[in-house]
Amino acid sequence: MKDTIHDVIISGAGPVGLFLACELSLARCSVLVLEKTMDPHSPLKRVPFGIRGLSAPAIEALYRRGLLREPELHKRIKNPHQHARQGPHRQVGHFAGIPFHEDDIDTAQWSYRPPGSPDPSLISEMEELETVLTRRAEALGVVIRRGIPITGFHQTADEVTVEAGSRSFRSKWLVGCDGSRSIVRKTGGFEFAGTEPKFTGYTTQVDIADPEKLSPGRVITPTGMYIQSQPGYIVIQDFDGGAYHGSGKPVTLEHVQAVLRRVSNTDVTLSALHIATTWTDRARQATAYRNGRVFLAGDAAHIHAPLGGQGLNLGLGDAMNLGWKLAAVIHEKAPDGLLDSYYTERHPVGAQVLDWSRAQVAIMGPDPAARALYAIVRDLINTRDGATYFAGRVWGIFTRYDLGGEHPLTGYSVPNLELEDGTRVGALMHDGRGMLLDLNGNAPLAAIAGRYGDRIKYVSVNAREQSGLSAALIRPDGIIAWATDGAPDHGELQKSAARWFG
Ligand SMILES: Cc1cc2nc3c(=O)[nH]c(=O)nc-3n(C[C@H](O)[C@H](O)[C@H](O)COP(=O)(O)OP(=O)(O)OC[C@H]3O[C@@H](n4cnc5c(N)ncnc54)[C@H](O)[C@@H]3O)c2cc1C
Repeated sequence: MKDTIHDVIISGAGPVGLFLACELSLARCSVLVLEKTMDPHSPLKRVPFGIRGLSAPAIEALYRRGLLREPELHKRIKNPHQHARQGPHRQVGHFAGIPFHEDDIDTAQWSYRPPGSPDPSLISEMEELETVLTRRAEALGVVIRRGIPITGFHQTADEVTVEAGSRSFRSKWLVGCDGSRSIVRKTGGFEFAGTEPKFTGYTTQVDIADPEKLSPGRVITPTGMYIQSQPGYIVIQDFDGGAYHGSGKPVTLEHVQAVLRRVSNTDVTLSALHIATTWTDRARQATAYRNGRVFLAGDAAHIHAPLGGQGLNLGLGDAMNLGWKLAAVIHEKAPDGLLDSYYTERHPVGAQVLDWSRAQVAIMGPDPAARALYAIVRDLINTRDGATYFAGRVWGIFTRYDLGGEHPLTGYSVPNLELEDGTRVGALMHDGRGMLLDLNGNAPLAAIAGRYGDRIKYVSVNAREQSGLSAALIRPDGIIAWATDGAPDHGELQKSAARWFG
C-alpha cells in the first residue's frame, strides 16, 4: 500500500469526504480515504442528535447521482418532515429559532426553483447518510481505511506524502475533509479567519427528576435557549462568550444542571448525564481553499454555528464543485484556471452562510438590543414576503455562481425539467458527465458536443416543460454554463464549452 500512488487521498470519511470520494471515483480517479476513527457508529450521528436538515443544493447533488433512491434516504423522503410540525401550517424551517411555515411561502416569487426532489428540504440522519455514501464509494472502488489519523503531510511539485504516525501514503493530490479541527488545514499553512463565539452550545442526553419544569420544543429565554426535542434530549445555548467550550473542562452533570437552571430560569434537577458534547458559534473560513496540491472542503474549510443547519449542505456543495474539476486536471483535460474556480465559486457561498449564522446569533442574545431586533425579525418572518425570503435563503434557492453570460439561468443549478418520457433532467446526470441538452432538435449541437468525447454528452430530447429553454450546456455539477431560449449562438456555446471542458 505504501508504494501505491493514488490520484487523491482524502483525509476524513465524514459525509463531505465520502461524497467527494464518490465524485472522483465516478470520474475514474483512484481514491484513498483515511479516517481517524475505527468505528463509524456513534450516538451523536443518530436520532435525535445526528439529525441534519438538507436543503435544495445538497438534495439535488444526492438526487443527481441517484443516491436519493437508496433505501435509507428514500425512507426519509417518504416522510421528510417527521421531525417538523405536521398539519396545514407546517413548520419547514427557522431563523434564530423563529419558525417559518409552508403555507406562508410564495414560491412563485422565486425566479429559480430547484425541484431536485419532491421537497426542498429533507431530514437525514448522519449515520444513514454516511452509510449510503460509504456503500456507494466502495462500490465505485474507493479504498476507505479506518483507524488511521493523518498527522501531517509534505508536498513536492508532483506529489503529496501523507503521514499518519509512522506510516506514510502517497498521492498526486490531498483533500482535507477532516472536519472543523482539520489537521490538513492546521499543518498546511492555511489561514483560518473569522469571528470569536458568543455562546457555548451543549448537546446532552439526561435523566430529569422533575421533567414538568421544562417545556418541550425550542424555548428562548432572557439568558439563552434550550431545546428539548424528545424527553431527556436537550440542547442548550449559553451566552458565555464560548468560554466553557474553550476551557477544555469536562462537561459534568453538575455543570450541565447549573447551566440548564440558569438558562431555563427553573430549579430543574438532573439525575443522570448519558451524553454531553459542546460546540460554539465561532465562525471562521479558510482564506484560501488550495495550497499547491492540497485542498480543503467541508467543515475543514469553514465553521459556523449549526443554527438552521447549513454546514453539511455547504460541504456537499464544495465536494460537488471540486470533484469533477480535480478529476479533469488528473486526466489532463482541464482548461486553464478550472481549479481556481473552486475557490472563486465556493468561498463566497461559504462567506454568506457564515454571515447568516452570525446574523442569527446577533438577535438571539440576551441583551435588550438583541431582543428588540429579534422581535422585529419575528414580525417580518410572519409576513408572506418575509417567510418567502427566509425560506429561499435557508434552502439555498438564491445560490448562483457569477459565470457571466447573457441567459438569466447561467450560473444556476439546472431546473429539473420533465422530459417527454416522464423522466427528468436530474436523472440523466448519474454518470457525472457534462451534458449539452438540446430541447429543440438543433442538430449542429451534436457536433460541438462530439469534440469533447465522453466529457460532454449530447442529449436531444423533447421536454414536457421547458422553462423557455431551447438548449443548455450543463457542467457535471449540474450548473448551467450556457443556455439559450432561441436559436443557439454556436460561437458562444463553443466559448463556454472550451472554458469549462478544455
Ligand atoms: C449539533 C449540530 C447540528 C447540525 N445540524 C446541521 C443541519 O441540520 N444541517 C446541516 O447542513 N449541517 C448541520 N450541522 C453541521 C454538519 O454536521 C457539518 O457541517 C458536517 O458534518 C460537516 O461534514 P464534514 O465531512 O466536513 O466533517 P465531519 O462530519 O466533521 O467529518 C470529518 C471526518 O474527518 C475525520 N477526521 C478528523 N481528523 C482526522 C484526521 N486527522 N485524520 C483522518 N480523519 C480525521 C473525523 O473523524 C470525521 O469522520 C450540524 C452540526 C452540529 C454540531
